[in-house]
Amino acid sequence: MGFATDAIHAGQQSDPTTGAVMTPIYMTTTYEQEELHKHKGFEYGRTHNLTRAALESNVAALEKAKYGIAFASGLASIQALLSLVKAGDHIVVSDNVYGGTYRLFEKYWTDYNLSFSWVDTSDLQNIKDAINENTKLLYLETPTNPMLNLTDISGTVEIAKQYGIKTIVDNTFMTPYFQRPIELGVDIVVHSSTKYLNGHSDVIGGMVLTNDEAIQERIRYIQNAAGAVPSPFDCWLTLRATKTLAVRMKQHNENAIQIAEFLKTQDFTHKLYYPGLNEHPQHELAQEQMSGFGGIISLDFGNMELTKKFLKSVKVFTLAESLGGVESLLCHPASMTHAAVPKEDRDKMGITDSLVRLSVGIEDAEDLIDDIKLAARM
Ligand SMILES: *Cc1c(COP(=O)(O)O)cnc(C)c1O
Repeated sequence: MGFATDAIHAGQQSDPTTGAVMTPIYMTTTYEQEELHKHKGFEYGRTHNLTRAALESNVAALEKAKYGIAFASGLASIQALLSLVKAGDHIVVSDNVYGGTYRLFEKYWTDYNLSFSWVDTSDLQNIKDAINENTKLLYLETPTNPMLNLTDISGTVEIAKQYGIKTIVDNTFMTPYFQRPIELGVDIVVHSSTKYLNGHSDVIGGMVLTNDEAIQERIRYIQNAAGAVPSPFDCWLTLRATKTLAVRMKQHNENAIQIAEFLKTQDFTHKLYYPGLNEHPQHELAQEQMSGFGGIISLDFGNMELTKKFLKSVKVFTLAESLGGVESLLCHPASMTHAAVPKEDRDKMGITDSLVRLSVGIEDAEDLIDDIKLAARM
């Protein structure tokens, strides 16, 4: 089946009792057992929930994975992935990953004798150079936030396979609509479903997807053993949202392309980062491994006064953290998402004080462009 068809139908059957077309929200913590050792396969809500199971098979189908395991947040899913390694192990990570991932790895797990190498994975040689005999996982985010640097997924997989290392891609920004790492040989995809998968800025959630039986067993075990499970209602909302993932992503992409093309011609634009532009240094790789470019654009005004005025003057865009919702948001990475990174390192990465990240929503593109025009020129 095609993506849009799977998005609407995969993992969902009409309810056997009533024929209800939509998956019910199974708000129950426990299930009746007819007699000792006899039940319908459901024992306790943390372990089994049908609304959650429907969401898991739905997103698994979209990522072309056999298994999906849902968590209460993106970070809870990333945390669960660390149960694949042991004290003494080493993990190679893209140096530009989500700030919370950096915090979890570097500020927490290093206390338990895991070690991490933070490398610019856009150059495959850096990955090779970082691998040592204890390396067990390779963790990528592509494109990165907010600089939108890409890593060659197939090239990375090739290296990882040579060394028997498992690869993980955080696919939050692209979603399976535009990028399917498992089809490119990646072992595990992880999501903050808080962003595009749910897409309405009203649920915090996460997902792990894999084809690997042993990995699924371990992560499924951790889902129950550590217990960071999403609520049935949150699963239902997310399941409702994935039905429109295809149409939403198409529109995010169209709007972002229009806005990027507009920004390119404006004299207030000092630097512009969007993988869909010919000028993006990895535009070719973007066309190879992605089928669209997503809704995130970073714009550097090169001027603090203008940046402040812009953030204050926009009317349709809202200044807020997060991304991937139907409404357009913008954020100031230097003081919001990347405030914990020392200024010197931020500047080196391109995250200057005058950089603004746009999460382009699915409003009318003309209204978004007018909003930017007015705010930048006021
Ligand atoms: C938001 C985000 C996360 C963390 O997810 P939460 O749902 O906020 O816990 C991880 N990775 C990326 C790329 C994100 O944008």
